[in-house]
Amino acid sequence: MKFTVLSLFPEILQGFFDSSIMARAVNNGSVEYELVNIRDFAFDKHKTCDDAPYGGGAGMVMKTEPLSLALESVKAKDKKSLYMSPSGNVFDQKIAGELSKEEEIVILCGRYEGVDQRIIDAYIDTEISIGDYVLSSGETAALVVIDAVYRLVEGVISKESLEEESFSSGLLEYPHYTRPEVFKGMKVPDILLSGHHANIKKWRLKKSIEKTMSNRPDLLSEKIMSDEEKQIMHEIISANGEESDGLN
Ligand code: SAH
Repeated sequence: MKFTVLSLFPEILQGFFDSSIMARAVNNGSVEYELVNIRDFAFDKHKTCDDAPYGGGAGMVMKTEPLSLALESVKAKDKKSLYMSPSGNVFDQKIAGELSKEEEIVILCGRYEGVDQRIIDAYIDTEISIGDYVLSSGETAALVVIDAVYRLVEGVISKESLEEESFSSGLLEYPHYTRPEVFKGMKVPDILLSGHHANIKKWRLKKSIEKTMSNRPDLLSEKIMSDEEKQIMHEIISANGEESDGLN
């Protein structure tokens, strides 16, 4: 799949495409990318890309002309186009999965107060927020989306690693341990050294449920639980002597 990113600071994104698993995915052809500098489409003497907002108020707004030329140059209207914005739909694993099936996504990164609304109206399919906080730039938000999406593209990461991850089953992932067996007096749980795969699987499921109950109980209220999962959850609740908190 291809990521086409429009930005005033494409160098922020370049390092990501040049490193680690992404670099390998680019080299083996699973991922393609194109970084477009919006400033290359500003044709006045100062290459101006922003201007004061109509109606007054603080800050500057990214101007229509360079943005529109940049978006036309990548044929954004024929592709899945996203604008990174704190007022967009909140990004999650489900959206990442859907985007990973696209052949190409075009991502527009904002700066300052954001972009002129007419650019969104004319060129953008979906506004995406990465969470309820305000960043100074769309580039860091775009990197979050690109990272979550490209690793789901076939050939980038093994299917088994993806299956057991947080959110894939509606639960958070169980804890991991590697060598040494004892670190600062803390020992790896015996069960992981037992070689008993069925018991290890059950222990991991229990840890996943415990962690989800503690850190993200909201996920449990949406999850359809198997009988085994329900049983484990009840065991945890009675072991802790806790109120069920409406989670049954
Ligand atoms: N004035 C805007 C904030 C602009 S922040 C407002 O109050 O809504 C500048 C740029 O950073 C935005 O154009 C957007 O591209 C990016 N950005 C900031 N927070 C973001 C978030 N939570 N998710 C995605 N992009 C974000």
